[in-house]
Amino acid sequence: MKFISTRDSTHSATLSEALRRGIAPDGGLYVPEAFPSLSPADFDGCEDLPSVARRFLAPFFAGDALEPELESIVREAFDFPVPLVPLKAAGDVAVLELFHGPTSAFKDFGARFLAACMSRVIKGSSRTLTILVATSGDTGGAVAAAFHGRPGVEVVVLYPRGLVSPRQELQLTCWGGNVRSLSVAGTFDDCQRLVKAAFADPAFAPHRELSSANSINIGRLLPQACYYVMTSLAGYRRTGRKVNFIVPSGNLGNVLACVWARRVGMPIGDLLLTFNANRTVPDFLESGEWRPRPSVATLASAMDVGNPSNMERLRSLYPDFHELAGALSAVSVSDDEIRARIRTDDGALGQVWCPHTATAAEAYAHLPPARRAAGPWVLVSTAHPAKFPETVEPLIGRTIPVPPALARLLTLPRQVLEVPATLESLASVLQ
Ligand SMILES: *Cc1c(COP(=O)(O)O)cnc(C)c1O
Repeated sequence: MKFISTRDSTHSATLSEALRRGIAPDGGLYVPEAFPSLSPADFDGCEDLPSVARRFLAPFFAGDALEPELESIVREAFDFPVPLVPLKAAGDVAVLELFHGPTSAFKDFGARFLAACMSRVIKGSSRTLTILVATSGDTGGAVAAAFHGRPGVEVVVLYPRGLVSPRQELQLTCWGGNVRSLSVAGTFDDCQRLVKAAFADPAFAPHRELSSANSINIGRLLPQACYYVMTSLAGYRRTGRKVNFIVPSGNLGNVLACVWARRVGMPIGDLLLTFNANRTVPDFLESGEWRPRPSVATLASAMDVGNPSNMERLRSLYPDFHELAGALSAVSVSDDEIRARIRTDDGALGQVWCPHTATAAEAYAHLPPARRAAGPWVLVSTAHPAKFPETVEPLIGRTIPVPPALARLLTLPRQVLEVPATLESLASVLQ
């Protein structure tokens, strides 16, 4: 399998090259040059996520240097539970809990898989691989956790001082060792600008190989497809019907993985994307006009994206607007609706949502009955509510027990360097 750029299909790369580069040389994003065709029967005997992943990913790894490592990569990356929990609401509906990894958000799947791949790709390389990550909250923690303690790799996380939640900041700064956390006097955009400038300058850190781990890396998308494969197969075996998903979305990485799983032949039906007040995608699907805009801050902050980069991949899969608009639908959910949904479902269903997952629950509650009856529905739960106590606890009137993995991280000492938002300061850290 080769991977091609969304901008120029003659730019092709092996899987290992695509992982290492992150972005294609022409600025496009890597996509598979062709999708394999798989059917539910191909997964007979695959019960847990690692076995499903091994089967699903085999064609994508075919011919690459990592092919013989696939089994050990998926066993290492997917070593935490992925429960599908029935929801006590009307209809056939369950919650796919993607928050049982080390940093309690679904980004752990992509980050851990990427780290498992990357540490094998660089074996034998003489230069240290330096992963630069600009983060607005969740990604930096997941990437730091996944690469912490791995030989031959160093991680530098840049986050905007004072603009991440207190618990997110603890997850960004508790590592030490091969992870350095920079608290940047600036915004997320400043952090991203610094990272981009470092990549653009070949003389920036000549003794290092720089790489990125942001959500455009194909090594973060492929592993996310695996939980959709597993969940759709389980629902299909149980009911004989295709499974519909509601996916809280921002940069569209999570839902794109689901679209790929469906394209390969998995029994996936409707895809309903939920957004917060950042309405770029819902407006596009309604009007046909693509109008990216600056993001606005909301309670579901990990979805505060005004120009979702994975739209480029979606459009390469569906060049025709009407086909794209037929392939998925989208709704936008306001902060007031998020608050009300968290309060209501705590009382009525005994279910505590994180602000992101609350957008999916809100969309489900408003599905017309006929659509609700069209097969099993799965709400994708992207983070544990204990990551957002400032928002959730006042709404439900009590404290949320913290999962043990997260609790352990929160006890570690902080290690952080405060820097101005300049390229010189980043350069001196990388000396
Ligand atoms: C990143 C994130 C999202 C958005 O996912 P995308 O892949 O960017 O669409 C939703 N919820 C949480 C908790 C996240 O961390």
